Amino acid sequence: MSKLPFFTKAQIDNICKDYKTPFYLYDEKGIREGIRRLQNAFSWADFKEYFAVKACPNPYLIRMMIEEGCGVDCSSMTELMMAEALGLKGEQIMFSSNVTPADDFVKARELDVIINLDDITHIDFLEKNGGLPETLCMRFNPGGDFCIGNTIMGNPGDAKYGMTKTQIFEAVEILMKKGVKHFGLHAFLASNMIENDYYASLAAILFKLAVEINEKLGADISFVNLSGGVGIPYKPDDKPVDLEYVGKTVKKAYNEIIVPSKLKKISIKSELGRYITGPHGILVTKAIHKKDIYKNYVGVDACAANLMRPAMYGSYHHITVMGKENEAPMKMYDITGGLCENNDKFAIDRMLPEIENGDILAIHDAGAHGFAMGYNYNGKLRSAELLLREDGSVKLIRRAETPADYFATFNFDGAEIKL
Ligand SMILES: *Cc1c(COP(=O)(O)O)cnc(C)c1O
Repeated sequence: MSKLPFFTKAQIDNICKDYKTPFYLYDEKGIREGIRRLQNAFSWADFKEYFAVKACPNPYLIRMMIEEGCGVDCSSMTELMMAEALGLKGEQIMFSSNVTPADDFVKARELDVIINLDDITHIDFLEKNGGLPETLCMRFNPGGDFCIGNTIMGNPGDAKYGMTKTQIFEAVEILMKKGVKHFGLHAFLASNMIENDYYASLAAILFKLAVEINEKLGADISFVNLSGGVGIPYKPDDKPVDLEYVGKTVKKAYNEIIVPSKLKKISIKSELGRYITGPHGILVTKAIHKKDIYKNYVGVDACAANLMRPAMYGSYHHITVMGKENEAPMKMYDITGGLCENNDKFAIDRMLPEIENGDILAIHDAGAHGFAMGYNYNGKLRSAELLLREDGSVKLIRRAETPADYFATFNFDGAEIKL
């Protein structure tokens, strides 16, 4: 039941002497070990993880991932620029975008990255904006519901991404005529899946499609990209995904579908975001107000502008009151930020130990789609990001925004706001 942060009360008290709350703290050891576990599960394959930059776009963290042998998956111009700044190019970068602006395709071609085409109409668009490469990945949308056994896991039929099966065949045929030599297949069918059979079910769909395209069109399918979607245990009772099992079941599908086919072998890629950084980032915030009206509220110095998942999706994020880890959760609170929005709540009706002003709260599993989804509503500023290194030291990997950053976009035509 208990879910504890990757730091102690003494450690966080020390860190709070040097850095003002709120801030994000990431765990180097956890990130590195998670990547190794993933690579180990797929050691039987020609496998590469492309970290989904959008989940946590901090170059210091991404540099660690590159050291561990990962590439990156970008979805926009600035993410491509970050990858370039990190010294990446070519096959180290996947570009899985949708509704792609022309400039982004031009940049992607300049860096010679692997482009994952979201739509059949993008063939012409890419040809005009950057030109066609030798290798292209196709994003597949099988439509309907995505089921594992009798359970509906996602609704690809309602999703804006990817191409229909007919379109994929048509696209590959057109592209072969235009000189594209190698193809990859990609699909993202469900998000935050802690169901152990997700990746193998998805892999089987893509492996079968690869064999069918190869048989009918003679196209060289050189890889499948299983994309992201592997979930993490947000709730204390959630079971983490068993990666060894995932590796084994994907291998079984590979041995049954790819090995006996004419393709014989293909490589496997993933674009995990949440799995890589999610559990290894914590939003650290301080209780600054208590308010008892019709309910009991604790107001903290972070708000939905720092972590919008609870407000946007109603997501559960576990909260530890530092120093009270062993106290019974005796009191029911709403933990709120200070936005003028009633959905700015990190927890609703949560049983926690009695909280006093000044207590430090650890909001767990904020390392992916956390800081990255931050915004400036109510004039709130983005927080700092810190890295807890393997040797126990702490490094500032992104400073907190200041009012000058907030006003920076007004500084044009000499009409500078004097701060
Ligand atoms: C968001 C996204 C990912 C990463 O998803 P996670 O749920 O964080 O693993 C990977 N690929 C694509 C195309 C995405 O849009």
